[in-house]
Amino acid sequence: MEIKLGIPVSSGVAIAPALVLDSESFRIPKRFIRKDEVEAELKRFEHARQKAIGEITGIKEGIFSVVKDEVALIFGSHLKMLEDPMVLTEIRDKVSAKRYTAEYAVSRVFKKIIKAIKEINDQYFGQRVGDFYDIQKRLLRNLLGQRAENLSKLDRKVVIIAHDLTPSQTATLDKSMVVGFATDVGGATSHTAILANALGIPAVVGLGTISNDVSGGDIVIVEGKSGRVIVNPDDATREKYEAKGRDYLDRGKKLVEAASKAERTTRDGVKVNILANIEFDEEIAPAVAHGAEGVGLFRTEFIYAKYGAHPTEEQHYETYQKAHEALGGKVLTLRTMDFGADKFASEVGLEKEENPFLGCRSIRLSLKEPTMFITQVRAALRAAVLGPTRLMLPMVGSVEEFRAAKALIDGVKNDLKRENVEHKADVPIGMMVEVPSAAIMIERFVGEAAFFSIGTNDLVQYTLAVDRNNQAVASLFKHTHPAVLSLIHLVIQTGLKHGIPVSVCGEMASEARFALLLLGFGLRDFSVGPASVPELRTIFSRVKTTEAEEIAKKALAIGFADETDDLLKAEAEKLLPAAEFGN
Ligand code: PEP
Ligand code: MG
Repeated sequence: MEIKLGIPVSSGVAIAPALVLDSESFRIPKRFIRKDEVEAELKRFEHARQKAIGEITGIKEGIFSVVKDEVALIFGSHLKMLEDPMVLTEIRDKVSAKRYTAEYAVSRVFKKIIKAIKEINDQYFGQRVGDFYDIQKRLLRNLLGQRAENLSKLDRKVVIIAHDLTPSQTATLDKSMVVGFATDVGGATSHTAILANALGIPAVVGLGTISNDVSGGDIVIVEGKSGRVIVNPDDATREKYEAKGRDYLDRGKKLVEAASKAERTTRDGVKVNILANIEFDEEIAPAVAHGAEGVGLFRTEFIYAKYGAHPTEEQHYETYQKAHEALGGKVLTLRTMDFGADKFASEVGLEKEENPFLGCRSIRLSLKEPTMFITQVRAALRAAVLGPTRLMLPMVGSVEEFRAAKALIDGVKNDLKRENVEHKADVPIGMMVEVPSAAIMIERFVGEAAFFSIGTNDLVQYTLAVDRNNQAVASLFKHTHPAVLSLIHLVIQTGLKHGIPVSVCGEMASEARFALLLLGFGLRDFSVGPASVPELRTIFSRVKTTEAEEIAKKALAIGFADETDDLLKAEAEKLLPAAEFGN
């Protein structure tokens, strides 16, 4: 039994055999062969090895004419590994004596080598780890073919263990079979994490080497809330976590029940609106059942995941039509497609960029290549006759950008009018405040934007220069950093001063302690993952705005991220004790 700690991203308890994917999403199956298959399996391995030797020799010779010494060294060492008698004997033994398949034997042996090298903790040897991964990958590719695992069609319940999962892979996971996942890399506000929450799949990311430490078929427990992953638990541990899983579901039900009875106001009678963040229209009905008062953020780029191609105007329209049906008159906030960086960049054919998070993404892409944007806006304005709709522009960094996008929208309205197509022209057009430049000069957007929605996931990332997807800097990703808090406070106060609706739709709003702080800043509109709606409703019904304001005042005065966080934890615990609802 081995216990590992990572970054918790989606609550719940999952227990199932592991399906391990390597960094290129190849599945490493645990499979045994019959005695009479041993010889053929050894031949398969030999064939894959010879192919790898041929490939590496080809690469070496190809580059050797340009760069000499370094290349010869790297590829020379790769060739040596493929000829190392100890490595080869161990792999062959596993096939002949243990009757492992060749790929399973390769994966076991390389895992062992990589683990041993890492444990030496020597800088020189540490750098060699990459070479071993490389060779392993080459062998596996030759053994398994080019086909990456299709995670949307699985035949049994599994916990996925992977180096990383992209948002598009996560979006298409077979939810009935994937009961949890755990990855080497990732951050708490990565889109993979957000999707795990949306799909209700317990998940832990940023575990470092989990994909190397677990083998296909190992039993894995994923405890989403604590970030704990347990590999091959003993019977007592397994029973304990099975009970925890049942408790978690029980508490969830109680929380939904309590929230449904709770006032929609604070204890001093102030109305607080809780809306839902969604990625798929199917999430709306459960969100409404959880008490959501509308959709505050529809990440419409995920429509791409559904169709696997740029959605047509009709596909957009159908999606919004279904969304309005599920909302039954409640507001639908459509964020125009936020492509780029970690979201579908390669899938939608964006050029590879050196630094995509600062590249041509989101609104910049919509302005540069407006066809997709125009197609979407046409569908959104047509569907707006079906129910209250707001359009929201992502990643706005300047007034010029906002105006340019509005001019495109005006163009769409003129086209629809000229074509005599039924639509609603006067939909509010607001903006995400998630780029620090926009937050700093938020006053300049007064009179331009109909509403502001603070995207704290990106606002924290860009303000603190901390990649939201990178577990190596996860401890620096702090919502309570004084620079972040002062920007959020400024935007909320500016909205209040000018009567412009402000909401927060980043993950920050989903966390009870931060929600309390935001309430104290004057925020009245929260947009959160559907699963968080009941918890927030309960919290708000138990607090007076004056109490939240006191907490906010103290938090702003502290000026240090960790101390502020400690204060907020203590205050939230008083209102929603872990003993009552915690995991
Ligand atoms: C944000 O950046 O906070 C946000 C809500 O948008 P996304 O997570 O989709 O980038
Ligand atoms: Mg964002």
